[in-house]
Amino acid sequence: MSILAVTGVAGRQIEVPTGLFIHNAFIPATNSLTVENPTTGETLGKISAAGPEDVDKAVSSAILGYEMWRDTAASTRSKLLFRLAELIERDAEELASLEAVDAGLLYNDSMQMSIPQSAATLRYYAGWTDKIDGKTLEMDGGVAFTYREPLGVCAAIVPWNTPLMITIWKLAPALAAGNVLIIKPSEMSPLYAQKLATLIREAQFPAGVVNIIPGDGTSAGRALSEHMLVRKITFTGSTATGRQILKAAAATNLKRVSLELGGKGPSIVFEDCDLENALLWTRIGITTHNGQICAAGSRIYVQKSIYDEFLRRYKDIAANSPVVFGDPLDPNTTKGPIVSRTQHEKVLAYIEQGRQCGSRLLFGGERVGKKGYFVQDTAFVDVPEDATILREEIFGPVACIVPFNTEDDAIRMANDSIYGLSAAVFSNDVNRTHRVTRALDAGHVTVNAWAMLSSNVPFGGVKESGFGRDMGEDALESWTSVKAVKYAIAPAKL
Ligand code: NDP
Repeated sequence: MSILAVTGVAGRQIEVPTGLFIHNAFIPATNSLTVENPTTGETLGKISAAGPEDVDKAVSSAILGYEMWRDTAASTRSKLLFRLAELIERDAEELASLEAVDAGLLYNDSMQMSIPQSAATLRYYAGWTDKIDGKTLEMDGGVAFTYREPLGVCAAIVPWNTPLMITIWKLAPALAAGNVLIIKPSEMSPLYAQKLATLIREAQFPAGVVNIIPGDGTSAGRALSEHMLVRKITFTGSTATGRQILKAAAATNLKRVSLELGGKGPSIVFEDCDLENALLWTRIGITTHNGQICAAGSRIYVQKSIYDEFLRRYKDIAANSPVVFGDPLDPNTTKGPIVSRTQHEKVLAYIEQGRQCGSRLLFGGERVGKKGYFVQDTAFVDVPEDATILREEIFGPVACIVPFNTEDDAIRMANDSIYGLSAAVFSNDVNRTHRVTRALDAGHVTVNAWAMLSSNVPFGGVKESGFGRDMGEDALESWTSVKAVKYAIAPAKL
C-alpha cells in the first residue's frame, strides 16, 4: 500500500494511504492529484484521483454494501457510528493536523470545532438508527402503514473549508438511515479523508458501506452526479457547481439532490443591542477561518444612531487584537492562509473592487508576505447597495459595513440578496428579534451571537443558497423515502 507522509503538529509524522478507498481496500487509480500546502505554496505529495471508471468500481462496491447495510440491525449501525466517533477523538491530533496542512484550517479551530462537532454529530445520529419510524393511518376499508426506507447508493461531494465536519454531517445521517455513501472530497483537501478511510476500516463498517474517492470535480464529481445507479447527491460548495449537479441529476436518473451552497450572511446590529457583544460576534463571524465559511457574516448592517461608535470600536478592536499570521499547525498562529492560489487571487481581486466601488477602506486590504496565501482582515464601510463586494460571496476575511435607519430598512437590505443561508440579529428587544428573525430570508438565524452550530439543529439555506438540510431530525427526511403499505380489511361475515 502506497503511503504519503506529512509533518503534523509538534513535528509528528503522519502517514496516510494514497489509494482510493474502495470496498475497504486502498487501490491505486490511473490518475493522481497533487496536494499543496497553502502555507508555503509547496507540494505535499500525490494521491490517487478517481476517474469515471473508478467511480463505477465504487458504485459496484456500494451496491454490495447496501445489500448488507439496509438489513443490518439498527443497534449494529448505532454501535459502528459510536465507534467511529471514538476513533475520531482518539486520532484528533492527526486529523486536525491534516486539516491544517492542506486545507489551511487552524489546528486549534479543528481541535475545538471540527473534531468535537464531527464526534457529536456521529453520536447524535447513532441515537436515531432505531427511531426512523413511519405512521399508522386509518383509511376507509382498511389501514395503512408508512415506512421510512433508505434510498440506496448515495454520494457526498464535499468542499475544502471545514472538510471533516461537513463530511460527517452527510455520512452520519446517511448511514443511520440505512444508506451507503460514496464520498468525493475536494481535490484541495483530500488528506483528512484518507485518514477517515482508515478509521472506517478500523471501526469495521462492512465493505462498501463507505467508499472514499478523491478526484477532480469535473471528472469524479461529474461522473457521480451523472451516474444512473446513484440515488442521491448531497453537495456543499459553490452555487455554480450546485447548478451543474442539479442539471446532471435532471438529465440522468432524476436522483435526489440536496444543496448547501454559498451565502452572503447579513448581521444586523440594532441600537438597542449589547454593543460589546455585537462587536465581538460580528468580528468572529467574518474572521473565523478567514471568512471561508458559507455562514460567514460578511454584510454587517448597523443602525445609524450607533454607526460611528460601532466603526470606531470595530477598528480599535482590529488594531488592538494581535494577529499572528503563520503555519496553521502552530498553536500560536491566529491566522492561517487562504486555501489556494486561485482563492487568494479571487479574494485580492474583490478587495481591489472594494477600493474602486465608492466605499471606504476601514482597515486591512493587503496581501501578507510573499510565500503562501495570506491576506489581512479587511473591512469596507459605507458600501453602496449595488457594489459587487456587497452582493457576491467573497469567501475571504472581508467585511462590508453599511448603515441603516429603521427596522424595515434593515430587513429590506438584508433580504436584497440572491442568497439566504445564515443571518445574525443583535438586539435586546425580544419583540424586535422575533419580528426580524421571522422576516429574514434565511435557513438559519442566530440572535446575539454568530452561527452556534449544534448537531440537533438543522442547517441549510433558501433561495440560491440551496435546499435540503444538514444536521437535526430534518436532515433524515432527505435520506429516506416514504413507502405506504395499505391493508384492505374485510368486514366480519354475519
Ligand atoms: P466548488 O463548488 O467548485 O467545489 C466544491 C466541490 O465540488 C469539490 O469537491 C469540487 O471538486 C466539486 N466539483 C467541482 N466541479 C464539479 C462538477 N462539475 N461536478 C461535481 N462536483 C464538482 O467550489 P470551489 O472549491 O471551486 O470554491 C469556489 C467558491 O465556492 C468559493 O469561493 C466559495 O464562494 C464557494 N464555496 C462554498 C462552500 C460552502 O461551504 N457552501 C465551500 C467551498 C466553496 P474539486 O475540488 O476537485 O474541484
